[in-house]
Amino acid sequence: MRTYQVRTYGCQMNVHDSERLSGLLEDAGYVPAPDGETADVVVFNTCAVRENADNRLYGNLGHLRPAKVKNPDMQIAVGGCLAQKDQGEIVRKAPWVDVVFGTHNIGSLPVLLERARIAGEAQVELKESLEVFPSTLPTKRESPYAAWVSVSVGCNNTCTFCIVPALRGKEKDRRPGDVLAEVQALVQQGVLEVTLLGQNVNTYGVEFGDRLAFGKLLRACGDIEGLERVRFTSPHPAAFTDDVIAAMAETPNVMHQLHMPLQSGSDRVLKAMRRSYRAERYLGIIERVRAAMPDAAISTDIIVGFPGETEEDFQATLDVVRQSRFANAFTFQYSIRPGTPAATMADQVPKGVVQERYERLVALQEEISWEENKKQVGRTLEVLVAEGEGRKDEATRRLSGRAADNRLVHFAVGDETPRPGDMVTVEVTYAAPHHLVADRALGLRRTRAGDAWQARQGAPAQAKGVSLGMPSIGRPAPLPVEPSGCAVTS
Ligand code: SF4
Repeated sequence: MRTYQVRTYGCQMNVHDSERLSGLLEDAGYVPAPDGETADVVVFNTCAVRENADNRLYGNLGHLRPAKVKNPDMQIAVGGCLAQKDQGEIVRKAPWVDVVFGTHNIGSLPVLLERARIAGEAQVELKESLEVFPSTLPTKRESPYAAWVSVSVGCNNTCTFCIVPALRGKEKDRRPGDVLAEVQALVQQGVLEVTLLGQNVNTYGVEFGDRLAFGKLLRACGDIEGLERVRFTSPHPAAFTDDVIAAMAETPNVMHQLHMPLQSGSDRVLKAMRRSYRAERYLGIIERVRAAMPDAAISTDIIVGFPGETEEDFQATLDVVRQSRFANAFTFQYSIRPGTPAATMADQVPKGVVQERYERLVALQEEISWEENKKQVGRTLEVLVAEGEGRKDEATRRLSGRAADNRLVHFAVGDETPRPGDMVTVEVTYAAPHHLVADRALGLRRTRAGDAWQARQGAPAQAKGVSLGMPSIGRPAPLPVEPSGCAVTS
């Protein structure tokens, strides 16, 4: 049996696509390569968003070359946004690559690998638009308790710093019935939490003529028995409507958590970014979310040093940050992304200035995050236990998970050890800027998700402890980390 490994870069979309690539390969008879072994088939699912993404890809391909020389049967495939962007260039620069496939044809991977093997030459397939909605492809889910479900792919916006529309194409919406059927099937398999995924979830439905479709979808998720947590990413402030706020507030299993990209607090910069909302509208949404859900945790993405950003513009961003009181913000220093309109704009801000502004923004947000987290001390939270690396804190054994509002919680293990996917009730005893500590375990609820996790292990097992402050703890919900594109990350 041939083994495979998928190496993923970039956003949740890519991570979710990689789940499909793994599913496709396993359907075709491949098995995951054991840890530490070079696989027979290595797939790079690339990202074009980050600076120097291509240098990194070609560096990684170079590292694999000796393994390929040693084992000519080995195959290397490159897919994702960078493949879509660089097209045939990849096999020219790295002729030992066997397959190049684009963002619109991930379903072709097994066939292309087979064709490359039989023909003895590289196969390149890059479609210009989506033929099959990727969610209809087999998927190997990484987590048995939390899952992403795509509601749409592509984006109709044209933010000047973003390469996503060029590489993922126009927005395509899935029918609500298909989305709900997938959610239902996941719940039957034990999943407790789903995150609805789209570059701009607030325009979901426009393609099939229902502008209120996203709010309705949230409410319909509320009717799915056994589904305990519903999240979504990413909303767009320009298209955000009050019916979505009402659906969030009135549907018990929709979490009071909102990750809404701000990008800049300056109207002038927002205009240059081609973000079609202004600071006042953004703050208005936050106000209405807080009025409907006073406990809502709101997070955001912010880019510092967009071309032409002045100190006055930056002050406007700080001002919106102060007013918004984000629980958390993913902050980025603007850097040139080839292929985007902003890359050739005049007035690129000097690196030193960007760095200094970035540090001021981070310091302000850290202070706010910490103050907001301190308000949680003494509260009782229900935490969905995540998979984690094992390590004990000095005196107390702790595991980690996410609270309903997506805050990261490191909690002391009580008499009984929970499994990933189980729910624990804890009291928060300490707050740090980026996590909470709960040293009082109040209860444990064993769940179907925990059973599903245990069944996957093939033997009775328990979650491992993690050390305090350790952020890599499975994936109960996606965290955006990259500013290009909404719903982007890691
Ligand atoms: S930043 Fe988000 S909304 Fe703007 S073009 Fe990119 S994916 Fe679309």
